Amino acid sequence: AALREGYEHFDPRAYLRNNYLPPRADFSSEEFVVPWKLRCLAETFASGEIQGRTLIDVGSGPTIYQLLSACDHFEEIVATDYLAVNREELGRWARGEPGAFDWSPFIQHVCKIEGRGEPWQDKERRLRERLRRILPIDVHRLEPLGAPLRPAADALLSAFCLEAVSPDRASFVRALAHVGNLLRPGGHALLLGALGESFYLAGAARLPVVPLRESDVREALAAAGFALRELRSYSMPAALRTG
Ligand code: SAH
Repeated sequence: AALREGYEHFDPRAYLRNNYLPPRADFSSEEFVVPWKLRCLAETFASGEIQGRTLIDVGSGPTIYQLLSACDHFEEIVATDYLAVNREELGRWARGEPGAFDWSPFIQHVCKIEGRGEPWQDKERRLRERLRRILPIDVHRLEPLGAPLRPAADALLSAFCLEAVSPDRASFVRALAHVGNLLRPGGHALLLGALGESFYLAGAARLPVVPLRESDVREALAAAGFALRELRSYSMPAALRTG
């Protein structure tokens, strides 16, 4: 209940400012966190192993950076979030409306690191075409979408959501199992998240995060029925530990 109440004050614009503008979103060096995340995603999808009809992104928030490399490998991308304000922010971008957040530096950077010489506008258009559904979700429900996803997703992506909405480790494991039910057996899950984080800010909202160790993540994955293929970690430079 406290978490739900906290999210009522979540300000998408403040969240975007804290996390997706400089200094965190500085593309001049891969030591900054945003280029690091984009590199991980690009390398993962470059293998060609993760592909299919549908990819579901759990807790998309107001962001699309996590879908830029993924969108080349799926016919449909389903974005989801608990908050209407975030779904609206995403919808504005998907429809290309004025006032939407400018993701073009991200799209340009991803095209550069993917190295195919693709014009960034082509990738932008492809993601907009494929992002056909933006659905409400609550990972604390056994049925996070309120009904089963049919057919089940071929792949699942979730970035900075589960640890940021779970009051403790047990709840994190349950949420992971709930979202795992959206995925077809044998499908891949790609999880990005924070280790050792206790809170983050989004305007007037100060959101508690369950601080996880790497071993907690390994145990949670096993408990939720996932086989871990690869785990990478990055240490946030002191100068970026803001907000
Ligand atoms: N994926 C984005 C946003 C992460 S912030 C990124 O990588 O930056 C955490 C997100 O979880 C917020 O958008 C918030 O609205 C969402 N959220 C809050 N409670 C939730 C719940 N019970 N189930 C699913 N998502 C939730």
